[in-house]
Amino acid sequence: MSARDRLRIAIQKSGRLSDASLDLLARCGLTFRRSRDKLFCFGETLAVDLLLVRDDDVPNMIAEGVCDLGIVGRNVLDEQFLAAGCAGQPAGFRELRALGFGRCRLALAVPQEFQYVEPAQLGGKRIATTYPNLLAKWLERAGVDAGIVSLSGSVEIAPRLGTADFICDLVSSGATLAANQLKEAAVVLESEAVLAAGATLPGDERGELIDMLLRRIDGVIQVRASKLVMWHSPRSALEEITRLLPNGPRPTVTSIEGLENEVAVQAICNEAITWQHLEDMKRAGARQMLVLPVEQMLA
Ligand code: ATP
Ligand code: MG
Repeated sequence: MSARDRLRIAIQKSGRLSDASLDLLARCGLTFRRSRDKLFCFGETLAVDLLLVRDDDVPNMIAEGVCDLGIVGRNVLDEQFLAAGCAGQPAGFRELRALGFGRCRLALAVPQEFQYVEPAQLGGKRIATTYPNLLAKWLERAGVDAGIVSLSGSVEIAPRLGTADFICDLVSSGATLAANQLKEAAVVLESEAVLAAGATLPGDERGELIDMLLRRIDGVIQVRASKLVMWHSPRSALEEITRLLPNGPRPTVTSIEGLENEVAVQAICNEAITWQHLEDMKRAGARQMLVLPVEQMLA
């Protein structure tokens, strides 16, 4: 690996993960100066630069040491991980964090009129996919012997063209499947964008930058779901009200001048607060309830 003192992160140049990846890094306090060719972005606030590439290239750029980190779909990372294993090579990359965006499923889809019940029905059939290794692993685990038709794109039309009986492809809403008279039958892999790194982290300044970035990413992920909940209530109702909140947070309790049995309370909740939560709290004696977004968090 070349000796570099700046950290390099590969993200998708243009596609479904691009905006959310840039947004995550911006929330971690990173700003970049875009170069004219837009393939390399110099980091201004920290010694962290960006490379904008095709998502398929991210794992190998990490393995070859061109980049230290990358943001890529788990579907791509795991597929290439298995491919390296099949070729008898160590993969040279791994998942460090799930990032909570770019969620989708790698799913087996069958013609709408097909009555799918269990994987055994796939025996002897042909399944078209751009994820042959993930599909092969899933079939092997299910103990099914099926043919895998490896395509580089437009998988969803394979059944109509007669090149395959079923497909295994990425699905989020299912609209593309429906448009091709297909329906989802089984989930092969739950995917989302992940932060990937090399098999071992660099021991120099870049390693320290990675540690800092991971702490900030954890903070950003936690903040997304977190809310600050505040209310007033009788002191005697405090325990019951707190128990109604998700994950039973430890509240901060303040006394209210002139009102001996009343308290002002605040608590951080790491899950969504719904109207139902607030109505239940009100019934238990809470008043003046406020739910506020959390801007930043560092544990
Ligand atoms: P590139 O030009 O970088 O190779 P691509 O066409 O391979 O782009 P995109 O379609 O932008 O990739 O998808 C990138 C990633 O977004 C996928 O690998 C997957 O992890 C995620 N994703 C989320 N929802 C979907 C979906 N409905 N269909 C496909 N990918 C999805
Ligand atoms: Mg791609």
